[in-house]
Amino acid sequence: MSLQISEIFHSIQGESSFAGWPCIFVRLAGCGHGCRYCDTAYAEGEGFTLEPEEIARRVSEFRAPIVEITGGEPLLQDDVHPLMHMLCEKGDTVLLETGGFLSVADVDPRVHCIIDLKAPSSGVSEKNNPENITLALERKGHYEFKIVIADRNDYLWARELLRQTGLPDVCTVLMGVAFGQLDPSELAGWILADHLRTRLQLQLHKYIWDPRMRGV
Ligand code: SF4
Repeated sequence: MSLQISEIFHSIQGESSFAGWPCIFVRLAGCGHGCRYCDTAYAEGEGFTLEPEEIARRVSEFRAPIVEITGGEPLLQDDVHPLMHMLCEKGDTVLLETGGFLSVADVDPRVHCIIDLKAPSSGVSEKNNPENITLALERKGHYEFKIVIADRNDYLWARELLRQTGLPDVCTVLMGVAFGQLDPSELAGWILADHLRTRLQLQLHKYIWDPRMRGV
């Protein structure tokens, strides 16, 4: 068993309902989805190999309250499942951030899944896996969804999706801006005007540090 890793680092969780917590990030290498605004394209090609036991050992050394498995696309590597199981068994609070193209059905139920819903400007919105929405509606409250908004068209798409599916009635839905492409105040105004039940999120790490900096 082994995993291709892009980087492991200690930072402040910038997104999700866990934003603001110190967190260890385990970024798995590889994705291939090609979202237009991807800010971790460097995770695509490079990487080093580690066994899940060694990753868990390194995570323990940081003594942070949360560990997030991210990418790239972490669900592309089957051995991510034993890693998440191992971390949960140790009693860690484990987050999984996934691009939303693959099903989260087999993820350990103790893991908090943060699932992207890709809006049209990503260029890949047709790849969103509808099974993840079905699972969220069935397993009420177990997952949270994140939508990156780059323009008004993305927002209207997201608003319609949320109204059609009823996702905000059963789980947390977060909306954030594509950094540098849309002013957060504009998105805030749209959410308020429509009384949308969604949480506005900023990528905290991009405000704390240089937004181009890696490993934060
Ligand atoms: S799914 Fe995530 S890592 Fe993959 S291309 Fe899209 S934004 Fe980048």
